[in-house]
Amino acid sequence: MAETPKYASYDVVIVGGAIYGSSVAWWLTQMPGFQGRVLVIERDPTYENAATSHTNSCIRQQFSNEINVRISQFGAEFIHNFRSFMGDHPDVPQLTLQSYGYMYLAVTDAFAQTLRESQRTQAQLGAATRFMTADEIAAEYPFYQLDDIIGANHNLVNEGYFDGGTMFDWFRKMARRNGVEYIHNEVLDITRTGNRIDSVTLKSGEVVACGQMVNSAGTRGVLTARMAGFELPIEPRRRYTFIFDAAHPLDRDLPLTIDPSGIHMRTDGRYYMAGGAPDDDPAVYYDDFAADHALWESKFWPVIANRIPQFEEIKLINMWIGHYDFNTLDQNAIIGPHPEVSNFHFANGFSGHGLQQSPALGRGLAEMIAYGEYRSLDLTPFYYDRVLRGEKFLEKAVI
Ligand SMILES: Cc1cc2nc3c(=O)[nH]c(=O)nc-3n(C[C@H](O)[C@H](O)[C@H](O)COP(=O)(O)OP(=O)(O)OC[C@H]3O[C@@H](n4cnc5c(N)ncnc54)[C@H](O)[C@@H]3O)c2cc1C
Repeated sequence: MAETPKYASYDVVIVGGAIYGSSVAWWLTQMPGFQGRVLVIERDPTYENAATSHTNSCIRQQFSNEINVRISQFGAEFIHNFRSFMGDHPDVPQLTLQSYGYMYLAVTDAFAQTLRESQRTQAQLGAATRFMTADEIAAEYPFYQLDDIIGANHNLVNEGYFDGGTMFDWFRKMARRNGVEYIHNEVLDITRTGNRIDSVTLKSGEVVACGQMVNSAGTRGVLTARMAGFELPIEPRRRYTFIFDAAHPLDRDLPLTIDPSGIHMRTDGRYYMAGGAPDDDPAVYYDDFAADHALWESKFWPVIANRIPQFEEIKLINMWIGHYDFNTLDQNAIIGPHPEVSNFHFANGFSGHGLQQSPALGRGLAEMIAYGEYRSLDLTPFYYDRVLRGEKFLEKAVI
């Protein structure tokens, strides 16, 4: 049932209350001197279809762009010091980062060269990534079949799994405790006069005036942007996740292994997780989570069993489909104010790496809203202007 906002006007209205809406909302409450009234509008408080509910919750330092590495470094710092960031409140749990690392496998000389270059960038920034030859991989992880593999990048520091669901819960809880108002409602329209957003119109009919607004509506961010007259290069794309049990479990953690086929797999507690895209990967409708159940046997299992022969006997335990908010321009985040309509802020297009970026990007957007500038990390490479110019901010390491 739709809820009515307490006031007719807010300093900041946030459209979408999943990890991004909640990260920005919570960070706003942490900005010294910022006293604004903040409203978060969420159309589905069960978050059933949100990417935040379907995520694989992994973090990596292995990016090719310096800013993406720095964003992940802050992500790891935030995870390690979660309770302290949340004000040392006794109810706040500690978060653990299970650093079994990512393992990017290369079958071509060209990709091995790309990995070596990325390794140098990462190492210069303090990340522990190593380039490993096939022999070195075999010595440390004897379970892989490596006949076709030239080498890999691997990193065992601040890279692996963390509990993103708990992080999301506490962003939301603490934002609320600090005075942010959340309502169950839907934004159906936006009123703009020239270069200013005036208000949003809710499904229940109320018109809510706003000083600034944030588009953190996930895949539906396209619709929210369009209400203000802007286009976003974002499509909902299906991504499969499978949980399986192995008759012969590995004797050590399986790093998040990115097979050259694009399929990835990793340790998941006493089970294993695999994921990837279907061969045919069109944009789908927002609520279309229909699965092709044949894909497990026809596509995923053969790749998994080829790469790790010990996984010939495995049993599927669970599966789900989530939607990436797939940025068709460059698969990188689109963050910050519109260049002309500067009280409209984007938080969109995170594709497959949004969860781990939510601490740093939420903080950056809160700084921009509170002070009109980035104060911690310079997020200008993610500006919306590049969409208007058709310029890509390419990241070589995407999943
Ligand atoms: C299968 C899968 C695996 C992933 N794995 C990883 C991973 O390992 N590591 C990582 O970092 N990232 C990962 N991601 C990406 C990450 O989960 C997303 O980038 C992140 O959750 C996006 O959060 P969001 O808040 O932007 O969007 P969402 O979680 O999609 O939330 C958007 C919210 O906006 C609401 N909304 C939409 N329109 C309106 C409206 N008009 N009015 C009110 N509310 C509205 C929706 O109901 C929804 O709750 C994965 C994603 C998927 C799908």
